[in-house]
Amino acid sequence: MNDQHAARDEARDAEQNAARTPAQHFETLAIHAGQEPDAATGAVVPPIHQVSTFKQDGVGGLRGGYEYSRSANPTRTALEENLAALEGGRRGLAFASGLAAEDCLLRTLLTPGDHVVIPNDAYGGTFRLFAKVAERWGVEWDVADSSDPAAVRAALRPRTKAVWVETPSNPLLGIADIAALADVARTAGARLVVDNTFASPYLQQPLALGADVVVHSTTKYMGGHSDVVGGALITADAALGEELAFHQNAMGAIAGPFDSWLVMRGAKTLAVRMDRHCANAARVAELLVSHPKVVQVYYPGLETHPGHEVAAKQMRDFGGMVSFRVAGGEEAAVEVCNRAELFTLGESLGGVESLIEHPGRMTHASAAGSALEVPSDLVRLSVGIEAADDLVADLAQALG
Ligand SMILES: *Cc1c(COP(=O)(O)O)cnc(C)c1O
Repeated sequence: MNDQHAARDEARDAEQNAARTPAQHFETLAIHAGQEPDAATGAVVPPIHQVSTFKQDGVGGLRGGYEYSRSANPTRTALEENLAALEGGRRGLAFASGLAAEDCLLRTLLTPGDHVVIPNDAYGGTFRLFAKVAERWGVEWDVADSSDPAAVRAALRPRTKAVWVETPSNPLLGIADIAALADVARTAGARLVVDNTFASPYLQQPLALGADVVVHSTTKYMGGHSDVVGGALITADAALGEELAFHQNAMGAIAGPFDSWLVMRGAKTLAVRMDRHCANAARVAELLVSHPKVVQVYYPGLETHPGHEVAAKQMRDFGGMVSFRVAGGEEAAVEVCNRAELFTLGESLGGVESLIEHPGRMTHASAAGSALEVPSDLVRLSVGIEAADDLVADLAQALG
């Protein structure tokens, strides 16, 4: 029985490796991995299989392994194979949201009494998941500054099962050294989880740097058009991939066929979008650094940014997110958000359109009073792919 399983796993790995053709570059994989033209019709784009169940050719006679769409759906499979290829993993799994993916991951990795180290500037929803949900189920957690591997090491406990990292982080664009933290986690027997939402796999590939699992909110850069909510987990560890797939099916928070298709469409243009996001963010950061109403700018592309060197080492470019503190405090920061016109006032990030928000009152309101509270004079920008001149002009007028 075990031999049979091993043989099947080996055959699948060989097939996946062949399908992945590692010689191909990211831009090519983004368009083609997992996306063979439809066998029945030749449709160049994988169809949206909006269906719950599949005809069996005799009891147990499944076509292509599909029986029920919670367990597997061809559109979702196409996305999952694409995501695995883009992150250089073996297994990709697509969920209804980033938080659904995180929930599946933590319930796969942890049992009551286990401990997790989470970053001191985690995404607010991630923090809430640990502090308000997982804690009720006996999961323990500590907060550490993940830009400092020694601080993470000091936070480890005998039952630490996961070190959770976001880099660049949200909203302060802190940078964690993924390779260094992979060492820290490995020596403790813990898994390193990297939330790669801000960088996207085009800019940063955590699995190659030693991470065990990559988390995405595909709602953001992967989808890229602010028209879908989704999440993903990717791992290079086949056994862990099986466990995650078991939990995905057992708990059921899957990505639906249409949502999977939207994320897949976004993935095809990820590389060109990210290049423009990065170039525009650099222009915006340049304006902010020299602006008298701006006290501090958080952008990993700035040489003065504390994580600049690590970011330059592990990222292709510095991303499309920029945060800054406004002279005059909270009210002044809120005013800048209200005065912006081309930058749309709204939560979320990673879409083609530029967004502005006040983390203290919006995305990070749930972290108020905790170790993750953000400065009240902070403004966060998701710099879109409009003309850089127009973006700079809008910010200049919003700052007054
Ligand atoms: C948005 C976000 C999440 C949560 O994803 P949802 O799709 O909103 O559930 C997790 N991590 C980061 C870094 C995010 O920006």
